[in-house]
Amino acid sequence: MPDLVLCIHRASPMTALDLSFQYLYAAPGRDAPLAGGAISLSGDRIAEVKPAVSSRGGLLAMPALADAHDHARGFHHIGFGAKDQKFELWRAALYAQPPIDPYLNAALAFGRLAQSGVGSVMHVYSSIRVDRLIDDARAITRAARDVGIRLGFVVPLRDVQTLGYGPDQELLALHDPRDQAFVKETWLYPFPSPERYMELVREVARAIEGPTVTVQLGPNSPQACSDGLLEAIGDASARENRRVTTHLLETSIQRKWADASYPGKFIRRLCDMDVISERFTGAHGVWLRPDEVAMMAERRAQIAVNLSSNYRLRSGVAPVDSYIKAGMPFSFGVDSFGFDDDDDALRELRIGHWVFSPLDTDAPLTQELLFRGWHQNGFLAVNGRNDYGRLTPGAPADILVLDYEALSYDLIENMIDPLEVVLTRASSRHVKSLYVAGREIVRDGKVTGVDLPAIEREVIAQTRRGAERARALKPVLERSQATLEEFYRAGGHTRAAR
Ligand SMILES: [Zn+2]
Repeated sequence: MPDLVLCIHRASPMTALDLSFQYLYAAPGRDAPLAGGAISLSGDRIAEVKPAVSSRGGLLAMPALADAHDHARGFHHIGFGAKDQKFELWRAALYAQPPIDPYLNAALAFGRLAQSGVGSVMHVYSSIRVDRLIDDARAITRAARDVGIRLGFVVPLRDVQTLGYGPDQELLALHDPRDQAFVKETWLYPFPSPERYMELVREVARAIEGPTVTVQLGPNSPQACSDGLLEAIGDASARENRRVTTHLLETSIQRKWADASYPGKFIRRLCDMDVISERFTGAHGVWLRPDEVAMMAERRAQIAVNLSSNYRLRSGVAPVDSYIKAGMPFSFGVDSFGFDDDDDALRELRIGHWVFSPLDTDAPLTQELLFRGWHQNGFLAVNGRNDYGRLTPGAPADILVLDYEALSYDLIENMIDPLEVVLTRASSRHVKSLYVAGREIVRDGKVTGVDLPAIEREVIAQTRRGAERARALKPVLERSQATLEEFYRAGGHTRAAR
């Protein structure tokens, strides 16, 4: 294998760069690679793509990945006892998370994602503390800017069914009498009106939006929103051309709730309200039926597939072949999970390729659709822009550079397409560099903008300071989980018609 080389010539500070690669995949799965390719950057755009003057080897380039669904949890949930299990019970354990500085927690997650090739991330923020929303949004945006990643910040919106898929008062009454006062005080905040929520979204947008940051409407899930709130969201999305993200039919329990509450018209109702439109990204979509997929495809709405999350939370496997048959766009997200609990987007990409391209379907996931999801569709979901997916003059200068020398260390040369090697082996340890908007935000596998190991140490130290409170909460949460388990086992969610 030839010597590893990355030639960087700064023509003028921060304005122009020339990069050369052994293999340049401008649009993987669609365009053949350029063996010995070079890219010139100008500002935040690609100026030129051309054959390299001298084709020295070792590096492989493609567009940076877009993580279309994430919660940017730098401190992993298992750290405070939220073990992998059925989603509805896992969710209750999240209340044990000790207080963590929102800047540090987000920077840690963004940094890890960048180190695995992610240049754009959708951060579905989940706190229902409306009083802290603007400050938290500013801190999270500062974290994204310091790391250098593009951010879609999703404003959390919900106003019903906080405890589970049934009326809060009914679920509260089922809880252990010892815990009811605590549960009510801690988890059942009064929610703002739909009008106030829409004002808040505009306030957040004014505070943080910019060239690499967008703000989206984030109904937590259809079961957590009143009709009035969903109508306000659809209306604001259409009027302000703002994108919408929600969790959609993630679990079998949600499917049964939806069928009981809105028989035969669950998705149609969301379409009629303009919640589902070409501006829409639904996360998961595991339990969508073909007729519902067809409705979403007709509106050019998309689903963000979250494979590791769906395995770990026992939710199932998304029917991607039905998405492909209907021509519905789809993207991919890490969802703060990852197969090894490490937020590795490249491993997520590879395993998705295996799972969704079986031979016994007539609509397998092709390489073209796989990368269209991680590039073009994901970038649209996060940034609301349609100008991404191919490294070409004028396109955003978001480039993932892999250490092909390390990936191919034992291969007989010219026996295999380098992209197959990526799809067999690539993970974050092969990320050499990541450029986002023309800036090198990962160099030699390390984040350049922040001291990530120091941030991780501080996050762990903060959570240790909250350890006593977390341990005190453990029995309360376990009793709450037992209550929820019994509620769902007895079909409480199927009596939830509103
Ligand atoms: Zn999620």
